[in-house]
Amino acid sequence: MTWDSFTEQPRVADLLAGSLRHDRLAHAYLFAGPKGVGKKRIALHLAKAIFCVNLPADACGECVQCRRIDAGNHPDVHYISPDGASIKIDQVRALQKEMAMRAVESSHKVYVIEHVDKMTVQAANSLLKFLEEPPAGVVALLLTENAHSILPTILSRCQTISFAPLQPEVITQRLIAEGIASGLAQVASQITANLDEARVLCQSDWFAQLRNVVIQLTQELKQRNSQALFTIQDLFLKHDRFKEALPLFLDLLILWLRDILYVQAGRQQRLINGDQQDVLQGQALIWTKSELLHGIELVMDTRNRIERNANPQLALERLVLQIQEG
Ligand SMILES: [Zn+2]
Repeated sequence: MTWDSFTEQPRVADLLAGSLRHDRLAHAYLFAGPKGVGKKRIALHLAKAIFCVNLPADACGECVQCRRIDAGNHPDVHYISPDGASIKIDQVRALQKEMAMRAVESSHKVYVIEHVDKMTVQAANSLLKFLEEPPAGVVALLLTENAHSILPTILSRCQTISFAPLQPEVITQRLIAEGIASGLAQVASQITANLDEARVLCQSDWFAQLRNVVIQLTQELKQRNSQALFTIQDLFLKHDRFKEALPLFLDLLILWLRDILYVQAGRQQRLINGDQQDVLQGQALIWTKSELLHGIELVMDTRNRIERNANPQLALERLVLQIQEG
């Protein structure tokens, strides 16, 4: 994995690769951005690129230096993350002691602090002093999901690098590259902008199962009997976790109904459930456009009602009846 393979954050990768190549790394960086957008991966890659013996200004991932950093036991690369709810002053002091020692492997030392916004006041003050007088060759990589809660005095001593939220296509491509089926990858990337969360979704059997229920239910909703209601009752009866998964279930339902609309409009290239085109084609014949639009509205309304603590089963049964009444 080299800098040019960070397709999810190309701007950040370019910037850091350039600074490294021109020997113009800052003493301290603040990587700011939402969860799951690659802050830690890029921090690790930067650390490897500083020490890698094979590639200048990049990381091979295979040399001893790269592998030790991957394994978390490189003598000149140190990590801190919150010990419980916060980062404590003792952790910062221990880090400073490490950083004051001569580098073992080269003239560089790197430290990474995750959730740097979660420092106690004492820890933050101690870090601030350290940032004011950085030892030569030491690079600080501070990571946060809440840049707005970082002390301005700390901010002013770091170069802030903003990590953009990931685009759905980027998440889809990444998951497919990891061996996840393209259909599920595409759906998951619409549900969350967090790569880790999307991966966990795809890897759980539950996710695929929920989508199958959505497909079954949208078929049953157009039958004139009570099968759709039985399906709902069955779900609540047989699966304890269905109640918690309900917002996800409703999101999947919205994506599915939208896809039927796309099929009707002949815009197959927009499909999210692209792996289910045959089933979508079939359902496009039994739903009308206005039923679909109204249905999506009702599902969104149900989602809001559940967020406001409506009884999940009653809310879902009501949704079924409302859709069937048209
Ligand atoms: Zn290497």
